Amino acid sequence: MASTIGHTAKVLRTSYQKSVAAYWDSEQAPVNLRLGEVDGLYHHHYGGPESTRDRRVIEELHRLETAQAEVLLDHLGSITAQYQLLDAGSGRGGTSFMAHQRFGCAVDGVTISEHQVGFANSQAGERGVADQVRFHFRNMLDTGLDTGSRRAVWTNETTMYVDLTELFGEFSRLLEYGGRYVCITGCYNDITGGRSKAVSRIDEHYTCNIHPRSTYFKALAANGLVPINVVDLTAQTIPYWELRAQSSVATGIEDPFLTAYTAYKEGSFHYLLIAADRT
Ligand code: SAH
Repeated sequence: MASTIGHTAKVLRTSYQKSVAAYWDSEQAPVNLRLGEVDGLYHHHYGGPESTRDRRVIEELHRLETAQAEVLLDHLGSITAQYQLLDAGSGRGGTSFMAHQRFGCAVDGVTISEHQVGFANSQAGERGVADQVRFHFRNMLDTGLDTGSRRAVWTNETTMYVDLTELFGEFSRLLEYGGRYVCITGCYNDITGGRSKAVSRIDEHYTCNIHPRSTYFKALAANGLVPINVVDLTAQTIPYWELRAQSSVATGIEDPFLTAYTAYKEGSFHYLLIAADRT
C-alpha cells in the first residue's frame, strides 16, 4: 500500500523515528542480504562468494540467525492455527515466515520502514502465504490492531528503538489474557554501571538506545506482563560474532559486540531472551 503523507506522519511520530526509518529504508548491508539469499529467509538479528570458505561462513552465519529465531519461537507456548500473532519491528520478515511455517497461524508484522514492508510483502507473495502473513507500515507503539486480538507478540531485536513502558503498554492491550510476549534483545548490565563505550558504539551504529536490563523488568511489571522464563543467551551468541568478524560480510560493529559481551573484557552487555505472560 502506498502511504499517504498523513499516514506517514502518523506512523513516524518523531524526528528520531524518521531517522530510524531512513536507516532501515536504505539499509542494504551484505550481512543481511547475502545471508538471506541462502534460503530466502531474511533476518536482521544476530545469533557471489569468492571462495568456498566464504560461502560456507555465510551459510553458517545464516544458520545461526535462523537458529536464534527458532529459540524465540520455542518460547511462544502452544500456538495453534486459529491464533493471531504479531511480529513487532518485523524487518524483512524472516521470523514471521518461520512462525507461520511452524504454527500455521496468521502473523502480522509491523515496521516503520516502508521499504521493508514492500520487501516482506513481496516475499509473502512469492511464498504463497500473502493471505496469512501480512506486513504493515505501522508504529509498534500504536499498531491500530484490535485489543485482545493476539495470542502472542514478539520483538526480535527491536526494543532498543523505543520507550519500553509505552511499548509494553501497547503489547498488554493487544494480548489476550494468558497470552505470551517474547523478547530477544541486547541490554546493558546494571551491575557493571552505566553504558560502556562499546555499548555506546553499538547505539551509534544502529541509531538506537540500548536499555539497561532493569528497565525491561520494571516496564513489564508495570504493564501486567509477568516473566516465566529469562534466558541469558550471551555465551551462545559470541561464536556468531567471532565468525562474523572474520567473514566478508563484517560491518565493523563486531568488535564492540565482542568487547561488550565477553566477561573477560567488559561483561557490560547481555543478550537476553525474556518470555512473559499477560495477566
Ligand atoms: N525483527 C527483525 C528486524 C530487526 S531490525 C529481525 O529479527 O530480522 C529492527 C527493526 O525494528 C526494523 O525493522 C525497524 O524498522 C523496526 N522498528 C524500529 N522502531 C520501530 C517502531 N517504532 N515501530 C515499528 N518498527 C520499528
